[in-house]
Amino acid sequence: MPDAFIELRQATKRFAGVLALDKIDFTLNAGEIHCLAGENGSGKSTLIKLIAGVYRADGGEVRIGGRARPHLTPKEAIAAGVQVIYQDFSLFPNLKVAENLALNTLLHENRKTVAWSRVRELGRQALARLGIDIDLDAEVGSLSTAQRQLVAIARALMADVRLIIMDEPTTALTGREVDALFKIVRDIQAKGIAVLFVSHKMREMLEISERITVFRNGRKVAEGPTAEFDEASITRHMTGRDIDQS
Ligand code: ADP
Ligand code: MG
Repeated sequence: MPDAFIELRQATKRFAGVLALDKIDFTLNAGEIHCLAGENGSGKSTLIKLIAGVYRADGGEVRIGGRARPHLTPKEAIAAGVQVIYQDFSLFPNLKVAENLALNTLLHENRKTVAWSRVRELGRQALARLGIDIDLDAEVGSLSTAQRQLVAIARALMADVRLIIMDEPTTALTGREVDALFKIVRDIQAKGIAVLFVSHKMREMLEISERITVFRNGRKVAEGPTAEFDEASITRHMTGRDIDQS
């Protein structure tokens, strides 16, 4: 049996008038690249937020690392090894790359003053771990989308992390940038870290993932090894319709 890192059991989340997640059973194994597929509004981001402790389930259970987490908070999710790269990257645009990377570490150290050399060194190490080259002195707001994403990933990897969740990470990337991101996703997996890759693009999920879970209207409608899917079958699951072949 593979080692389950995340397990949702009958997880349900309602918003006023909307059943965003309807009794979802979901398992993400340690170290795997797992794709969560579904059209806009199918519940993908809501599922991420349950795992990240941003939302609390209205029913059912969220388990991380084999433990039920009935009162999961963002802090507890991070302590359990969950990091999320949101679509806006949650960086500080007016701070430098090195400052964005070093901030969490420095906050924990609780010092009165910090030498700039220490900030740079923390930033340098974070980028080196990913094998990427970005100017540590650049303001994050001046970077390209792909570069900001890399800074966010580098920052996530500074934590003691077992799972990185990427919410629609390729939306604003060029084809070449997607290839570069996929290489990094594979490097992350080689470090023993699982990746939950959220997407509605068929080709990408077939290329990068080992297992796929498909959502439609807040329900899980398919799951299995990626080899068992193709573009037609994923489209059918996502939309509930057969593709027009004409
Ligand atoms: P996806 O990420 O797959 O596009 P979401 O999880 O964002 O889907 O949304 C699922 C459903 O829940 C949608 O109908 C959406 O409008 C609704 N929803 C999501 N977040 C909220 C919220 N904070 N308040 C009200 N409705 C929400
Ligand atoms: Mg979403």
